[in-house]
Amino acid sequence: MTRHLKAPDLFGAIDDIPSLGRPAADRSFSVFNPSTGELLAELPDMGVEQTRAAIDQAYKAQPAWAALTARERSDILWHWHQLIVDHADDLAAILTAEMGKPLAEAQSEVSHAAAYLQWYAEEANRIYGETIAAPSTDRRMLVIKQPIGVVGTITPWNFPASMVARKISPALAAGCTIVLKPAEQTPLVAGAMFALAREAGFPEGVVNLIFASEGDMIGRELCSNAKVRKISFTGSTEVGRLLMRQCSDQIKKVSLELGGNAPFIVFDDADLDAAVDGAIQAKFRNAGQTCVSANRLYVQASIHDAFVVKFVEKVRHLSVGDGFDPGVAIGPLIDRHALAKIESHIADAVQKGGTVECGGERIGKAGTFFQPTVLTDISSAMAIAQEETFGPLAPIIRFEDAEQVVHEANDTIYGLAAYFYASNLKRVWRVAEALEYGMVGINTGRMSSEAAPFGGIKQSGIGREGSRHGLEDYLEIKYLCMGGI
Ligand code: NAD
Repeated sequence: MTRHLKAPDLFGAIDDIPSLGRPAADRSFSVFNPSTGELLAELPDMGVEQTRAAIDQAYKAQPAWAALTARERSDILWHWHQLIVDHADDLAAILTAEMGKPLAEAQSEVSHAAAYLQWYAEEANRIYGETIAAPSTDRRMLVIKQPIGVVGTITPWNFPASMVARKISPALAAGCTIVLKPAEQTPLVAGAMFALAREAGFPEGVVNLIFASEGDMIGRELCSNAKVRKISFTGSTEVGRLLMRQCSDQIKKVSLELGGNAPFIVFDDADLDAAVDGAIQAKFRNAGQTCVSANRLYVQASIHDAFVVKFVEKVRHLSVGDGFDPGVAIGPLIDRHALAKIESHIADAVQKGGTVECGGERIGKAGTFFQPTVLTDISSAMAIAQEETFGPLAPIIRFEDAEQVVHEANDTIYGLAAYFYASNLKRVWRVAEALEYGMVGINTGRMSSEAAPFGGIKQSGIGREGSRHGLEDYLEIKYLCMGGI
């Protein structure tokens, strides 16, 4: 691997990655800093042959990994967690360089990633079966839990460190081995984390990394190779659907964390200032490039204008720039396609009667910076209300009727996250139960935690990550029945 990044970094460790046991690729691909356009690194562009070799290694290593005691697996995960904590500043710098997010957000993401490793290092020791009251006295019936086997994982660019940790730490705790392909835009932090995994003492073949410039070929191999027993994917609904189809031949298990179209509802009994702060957090974190980003803000008519004034005032003060500059709240978008999507959503909304309250323009010509933008007079007929924008764009929809707004909020193919602000207890319960989403934030704009099940319903996905539920997704149930007792 060639490297160009000058910041304090872990590249001594990353340079070691090709020695993780796979044949080197003869092609390479480049990784750029989206803030500056600077070339950061060139990585081996691996293909089917390397993926197959990695799968073979993972397959060979899995029985011995599963045969360790839970405590032994836990200790290695714990060591990896500790190494990530020790190198947190370097990992955050790599993350900001390749992805663009502000350094403070990158630091918080690395802590979040480390928290998953800690959680599943502990959870590895708490895999329990069941005993069943048998219908006759001469039998004993029980359930044991066993690891699924080799897991193929594919991660996106928007949380390149925490997605890696969130997927592979429960798999490893359960006794599975893994082959991971990180997003082509952000492979470096994954590389650094794997280098630390090697130092943590995972046996050869337990964790395997594939660098590749695109996902299609690697995805096909992971889905069609019978040695892989499960696919765990985070990314767009379109690719999730494709992977699920590719897995259908072998009835391979899938966990899918896909797109969202989160409603953020502010009722007239809400604490307005808290709702404004929550909306800023839920909308603009990671420049709006989160699957749980507040994509549609519904505000009740009687407080609509007051909310807009306060919200726009705060949005105007969000500073946009290079994630390494102090005080920056919003970094660049990942690429020019993302800029084009935002611009098309704004143009469509304005053409159908929407009003730009602030922002609405690109910043500079070189990078992919976009002004944080607020739109009002939004209706559900606009593309912005139907599709995930994945950018710093907040469309506000005025509503009158509390029952109707829940109906509108649910009127989407997605079901990942929803938020609402209200104080009336009866309303809080009713709305929380009526929203058709895997996760609901009540009077908060942020809810991800390693201790909680993250995931969606409808076309937002299958399965959960985090908490004990995340571990169960990597375990098979085996029923044992003993007779003649
Ligand atoms: P994407 O689906 O284009 O890419 C995600 C990953 O899939 C990348 O590693 C990519 O290389 C790979 N990939 C692309 N095409 C593939 C193919 N044909 N076969 C196999 N792999 C392929 O998504 P993206 O644009 O990078 O990420 C943004 C999307 O991810 C958004 O829709 C967002 O909502 C979603 N997301 C969801 C969650 C969640 O937990 N639900 C979290 C983060 C992001």
